[in-house]
Amino acid sequence: MSHKNFPMVPRVIFGKGSFNQLNEILAPKRLNMNAPFIFLVDDVFKGNTSMISRISLSYDDKIIFISAEEEPKTTQVDELVEDIILMTKERPSGIIGIGGGTLLDLAKAVAIMLTNDGESKDYQGWDLVKNRAIYHVGIPTISGTGAEVSRTTVLTGPDRKLGINSDYTPFDQVILDSELTQGVEHEQWFYTGMDCYIHCIESLNGSYLNSFSQSYGEMAYQLCKEVFLENNLSEIESREKLMMASWHGGMSIAYSQVGVAHAMSYGLAYLLGTKHGIGNCIVFDHLEEFYPEGVKLFKQMKERHNIELPQGICTNLSDHDFDVMIKIAMSLTPLWENALGKNWQKIITNEKLKSLYKKM
Ligand code: NAD
Ligand code: ZN
Repeated sequence: MSHKNFPMVPRVIFGKGSFNQLNEILAPKRLNMNAPFIFLVDDVFKGNTSMISRISLSYDDKIIFISAEEEPKTTQVDELVEDIILMTKERPSGIIGIGGGTLLDLAKAVAIMLTNDGESKDYQGWDLVKNRAIYHVGIPTISGTGAEVSRTTVLTGPDRKLGINSDYTPFDQVILDSELTQGVEHEQWFYTGMDCYIHCIESLNGSYLNSFSQSYGEMAYQLCKEVFLENNLSEIESREKLMMASWHGGMSIAYSQVGVAHAMSYGLAYLLGTKHGIGNCIVFDHLEEFYPEGVKLFKQMKERHNIELPQGICTNLSDHDFDVMIKIAMSLTPLWENALGKNWQKIITNEKLKSLYKKM
């Protein structure tokens, strides 16, 4: 058996206010006057001067505001790359993504596609990227996905939702400043935070588990329990702990895999556009037979934070719709194998998936 040689983020800065060091971090990375930095920023920060004014623009540097309303698409990445090529004299010095998983994934994908020919859909899969990406920096403003550490960038393409998984995908630099996560709305905080919790449950209960994944997974799981079930944390502590939980959760799945909730949530996302965090919650809520302890605790967390999940999102779907979702979910072999072992197809059939989806 061959062991994965996993790339990690080589540089990370952590701490309240560390975003102030952005400009000094970038300065030595500027290749020349014609090679700008391009900042891809969640448009929720448009007009937020206290954040935007701290990005100092020189030469041809540009901020591009992007909505996180929808999850990243391959066509969106290709268009952004086109735009950037047209607006710059030379290949940029770097791409800086500021936002949640959506913006972080866009930044990673754009950095890759600026040095690789063709369309981004051609690179969805494992280790298809040929050339090193340009320098890219990730600055999360909401915690949970682990996109800040991961080796993937999840994109919805013409016929699948699948990551560009490659050694060139991880960020060259990450800035973890808990101040930036301050404005996140309560429900969104919960959904994205639960993405991290579900990463832990799926990793820790999977057949791919090993000591590397377990050490990170247990740490993240502990942190999630503190953040979502304990009373005595200050707001800042809670935000910092969730930020680190996200990081550890991402590290845990890097060397193992996610499971049933993610596979089924990908189906919902593909057909209905259900976003990752909330989609995982909707699915996970019905997975007691696979993750009894994890789901029990999840329900406590949900109640504790007064979260009402949407019900009946699959009620009016046609047989064809179910088939589409099931096909997407079923195609994610490693997730099922991790969750249920080599003989997963004996446990998970189309009918079984349909009956689960029908509850949602
Ligand atoms: P997101 O980026 O979609 O953002 C969710 C919402 O929170 C948006 O409305 C956004 O505008 C808002 N928001 C973000 N920061 C804010 C702030 N500081 N104040 C106020 N509002 C703020 O959310 P997410 O859950 O972080 O990311 C989901 C995406 O991440 C999905 O596309 C999913 O596929 C991807 N993902 C990627 C990985 C990976 O390893 N690459 C892992 C998991 C999920
Ligand atoms: Zn996830």
